[in-house]
Amino acid sequence: MTEWKNFDLLNPTDEHKMLRDMVKSFVEAEVEPQAHEYNRKEKFNLPLFKKLSDLGLLGITVPEEYGGAGLDAVAVVIAHEELSASDPGFCLAYLAHTLLAVNNLAVNGSDAQKKQYLPGLSNGSLIGAMAMSEPDYGTDALGMTTTAVKKGDRYIINGRKMWITNGAIDDNKTACDFVWLYAKTGEKNGRALISTFMIEKGDKGFYVGQKITNKLGMRASNTAELVFENCEIPADRLVGNEGDSTHHMMRNLEIERVGLAAMALGIARRSLEIMNKYATERHSFGKPLNAYGQIQKYIADSYAEYKASEAYVYDTARRLNLTKEGNRLDSDGVKLVSTTMSKNVADRAIQVLGGYGYVGEYVVERLWRDSKLLEIGGGTLEAHQKNITRDLAKAGL
Ligand SMILES: Cc1cc2nc3c(=O)[nH]c(=O)nc-3n(C[C@H](O)[C@H](O)[C@H](O)COP(=O)(O)OP(=O)(O)OC[C@H]3O[C@@H](n4cnc5c(N)ncnc54)[C@H](O)[C@@H]3O)c2cc1C
Repeated sequence: MTEWKNFDLLNPTDEHKMLRDMVKSFVEAEVEPQAHEYNRKEKFNLPLFKKLSDLGLLGITVPEEYGGAGLDAVAVVIAHEELSASDPGFCLAYLAHTLLAVNNLAVNGSDAQKKQYLPGLSNGSLIGAMAMSEPDYGTDALGMTTTAVKKGDRYIINGRKMWITNGAIDDNKTACDFVWLYAKTGEKNGRALISTFMIEKGDKGFYVGQKITNKLGMRASNTAELVFENCEIPADRLVGNEGDSTHHMMRNLEIERVGLAAMALGIARRSLEIMNKYATERHSFGKPLNAYGQIQKYIADSYAEYKASEAYVYDTARRLNLTKEGNRLDSDGVKLVSTTMSKNVADRAIQVLGGYGYVGEYVVERLWRDSKLLEIGGGTLEAHQKNITRDLAKAGL
């Protein structure tokens, strides 16, 4: 349905267009055929994930000198939108690797640290995760209690991290290869001083606590609790200066939120396509469903809300610089508005499909379940409302 599309907005350059075409073809050939099965089995498709490296997608924002594709935030949106139009669970694993772990290192690591890990993370030989949330601290991330204490040329880390996407890689609770870990290294004026450490699979005292199962959605991605029990790492795994990470932890949330908003676009677009086709083909009382005003409201409202989100997400991505000062206000804004939009559109799609919408084969029930996570992960709706209100007040608007 190309007539929906404003390609100047969606693909501002030829490179963006080529990227979209490439991801779309990959999704059609490789992602879509496995999406239903992996969701049903609640399984992460690791071999398929590694294939993303052939497309240059695993190091999408990594500079070419470190083995990546060196692309921008619009490219990030394109990849996440296209993958999520088919399999948001698989895409969440992709987001955790590329944006939460890899982009963070590409922006904040030293040259030596980047040379050590980025080539492997970009070519699929290493799978990454980011560990910020804890069992008792999510939205209140700065309350974290995981500690890192320097002893000679080592750091000793103790604590537990919760809800970590890609934390466990397979069904045997094997930890992922690389964890971008936030831990507390001190306090100043009653506030935690946060530092970043790079953890490797096999580090002494680092293991998977529990793999979280029975998730409502995003079942094609693994979620795990990670445990650090007198975990000992060399001191050169500290990123930047001790106690200096709060700023970059918050900054990286911006591209995460834009990526999650892009996932919402993919979910909404697919839901809309499915409900539109169904309402055109399915007849009731001798007329197609889309002849009825109530069904028209579902479709038309969904289309207009989706298009509004699309414009906001792409505009924000175009203005988001991955390395310099960012745009906290609108990264909160796009996630706030797009995620609930996608849940509502998927919900209406289920309604339009009636009983068929309620079963897995027709896709929209999975999209609806997956969309709910987008209102929680990477910041809850309430956190975005709080941040936006605070930033607008500061700006004096
Ligand atoms: C599938 C999945 C994958 C995830 N992946 C990762 C990952 O890879 N890495 C990672 O670090 N984390 C990850 N998370 C964690 C996620 O970021 C947190 O769940 C989220 O930040 C919310 O934290 P919480 O669950 O502790 O809820 P809480 O912070 O306890 O919030 C509970 C409720 O209270 C509300 N609330 C809290 N504080 C306030 C306030 N001040 N004002 C108003 N309302 C408030 C919240 O908005 C929410 O509605 C993941 C979570 C899930 C479910």
